[in-house]
Amino acid sequence: MSGPSAILRFAPSPNGRLHLGHAYSALLNTKIAADLGGTCRLRIEDIDPARSKPEFTEAILTDLAWIGLTYPEPIRRQSAHMREYRSVRDRLIGAGWAYACFCSRGEIRARAVACDPDGAPLYPGTCRDLDPGEAAARCARGEPHTWRLALSRALPQALKQGPLGYVALDGEGKRWVPADPAPWGDAVIARRDVPTSYHLAVVHDDALESITHVVRGADLEAATSLHVLLQRLLGLPTPRYHHHPLIQDEEGRKLAKSRGSPSLASLRDAGLSAGAIRARLGFA
Ligand code: GLU
Repeated sequence: MSGPSAILRFAPSPNGRLHLGHAYSALLNTKIAADLGGTCRLRIEDIDPARSKPEFTEAILTDLAWIGLTYPEPIRRQSAHMREYRSVRDRLIGAGWAYACFCSRGEIRARAVACDPDGAPLYPGTCRDLDPGEAAARCARGEPHTWRLALSRALPQALKQGPLGYVALDGEGKRWVPADPAPWGDAVIARRDVPTSYHLAVVHDDALESITHVVRGADLEAATSLHVLLQRLLGLPTPRYHHHPLIQDEEGRKLAKSRGSPSLASLRDAGLSAGAIRARLGFA
């Protein structure tokens, strides 16, 4: 698939304990990195100040080490790099590709007529054409706001450089996948409380850490279209992508803490060995 400089990453969010789905993704990343003669880094995606907890970060390191995974230092913790994300956000604003949005969640829900690929209400564009002077004054007064991608301005600009897409790796094969960010509408690139969103931070970090192959769950496949657009706008390289199937429970549902899926820690406490977990996930 590629030469010795392959760099992959496993990028969990420390808002709960890791479960088997995380273990599968982490093991797969390390296996593919080894197959490519490269390395796999760990990144802690803790931009969410309300949900991210330092004790979960510590637990992630413990659980990964338990299943036999260690990572090169330094481990990037996104919460320590907000100034970087702010400056990336400001580049998009300065180029006219992002605008301030003052809508509450309730207002968006009430006006939306469709959903984005995550099932969230698609932004109806209320603040898109606000007078720039008025929007700046509202920001200056401290009115809470997010920053949204001005898709109708940004996308035509990006397409001037050619079609958007990425190389997907499936097993031994490679294929070109066209990227279509339109279903995301004017996505949030920076939240009210922090000067970034998942999408902006992940794109910046993948480039900063010279990630060559992004291996992550199929639940993030649709987001890759948006990431490819942000990469083009910011002049960043597009890695190769592999979206792996999600590990499911006995009822065929995606594992989730909210559904009471057992954590690695609880499986360990119940007496399962790390070897048994690896074997169960196909990494014997
Ligand atoms: N932090 C994300 C998560 O835990 C993964 C992001 C990614 O791999 O791009 O779902």
